[in-house]
Amino acid sequence: MTSASYLIRSASLLGATTADILIRGGIIAAVGPELPADATEGATVIEAAGWVALPGMVDLHTHLREPGREDAETVETGTRAAALGGFTAVHAMANSSPVADTAGVVEQVHSLGIESGWVDVRPVGAVTVGLAGKQLAELGAMADSRARVRVFSDDGICVSDPVMMRRALEYVKAFDGVIAQHAQEPRLTEGAQMNEGAVSADLGLTGWPAVAEESIIARDVLLAQHVGSRLHVCHVSTAGSVEIIRWAKERGIAVTAEVTPHHLLLTEELVRSYNPVYKVNPPLRADADVHALRAALADGTIDIVGTDHAPHPSEAKECEWASAAMGMTGLETALSVVQETMIETGLMGWADFARVTSTAPAGIGQLPDQGRPLEVGEPANIVLVDPAARWNVDPHAMATKGRNSPFAGLQLPGRVQATFFRGHPTVLDAKLHSPYRAGVN
Ligand SMILES: [Zn+2]
Repeated sequence: MTSASYLIRSASLLGATTADILIRGGIIAAVGPELPADATEGATVIEAAGWVALPGMVDLHTHLREPGREDAETVETGTRAAALGGFTAVHAMANSSPVADTAGVVEQVHSLGIESGWVDVRPVGAVTVGLAGKQLAELGAMADSRARVRVFSDDGICVSDPVMMRRALEYVKAFDGVIAQHAQEPRLTEGAQMNEGAVSADLGLTGWPAVAEESIIARDVLLAQHVGSRLHVCHVSTAGSVEIIRWAKERGIAVTAEVTPHHLLLTEELVRSYNPVYKVNPPLRADADVHALRAALADGTIDIVGTDHAPHPSEAKECEWASAAMGMTGLETALSVVQETMIETGLMGWADFARVTSTAPAGIGQLPDQGRPLEVGEPANIVLVDPAARWNVDPHAMATKGRNSPFAGLQLPGRVQATFFRGHPTVLDAKLHSPYRAGVN
């Protein structure tokens, strides 16, 4: 067994103090200003002056599409994209085909993640059988499986039946699981194509009212309080949702919430182009919503950034608006979009960035080896970012199979220079290096 060592020289830890980091045996073996030469002998040196060292990013909301939709993405291509984006763990959403609603399917996804070796792949289990909303899936068996599922979601579809939602919240208490809700009242969004408002009226498209999201969140925080269980709200997109979550947190209700990078940057005005790359669920909202979401992420009302990376084959997106699939890719642009919207604007620093992209999502997903501080003895899951770099987003240059990036053509700040997963460089020189292999590296 080889155990390569790496010396990261002169990185800025979470954007603050400058230090060297020695990685050996999969862990952080030493941290400090100018580590002595005898301690670092034989280590591969990475010059990181001007770069920021952060804990590896953790995504609570990734669609890897495998099994069943390998034309859109595979665990291999999706996790390559994740590593390039600075992630060391992703949660794979359950709306694959077959749906991840049994111990067998979640174990399959978990095994595919280990075989790929780019990041930790944590399967999300479905709440209901086939995402159909009629019958609770075998949550306990998925929790007890090798995949150790702790996050359950019918994402893509709302668990709209309040009795089903109550039962799910009650059931996961036994193993401290969490229900991640896709908050969308189905009757209020029948045929909806974009945000409901002045732009939808202009364009003559069926609107998707904010209240369809807010009414489910209001109901669910009350259910979570009643049952005494944990609720996570996926992709919060409206100012009103933020107010409800703030109200719930003030009352001590165990709710956490997520915002996507695209909802932090883009608005419904883009839909005027009729370019289906901007079609997404929940829809892009108004400028006031974007500002409320940024403020909520900065003040902790929204806990985390989740990408909702949703790759689609070209034919599902390169068609007319009404028939196009909903969803956007996001793994390879998340860091840059959050830097652009939260750090360049002065709303957050890099320590806050580490909290919302790593520590907090690792806590919600219960990943003990992720989201850890950059300290001696901790697992070496680390990303090195050059915050001064700027780059032009080109979907054809990405590792994901999906070409549906809404940021295509934009110039964004921040480049992932290296990602270390369990002490092994999955990304070096801003390019894929090699996957982690247990017992080999
Ligand atoms: Zn969703």
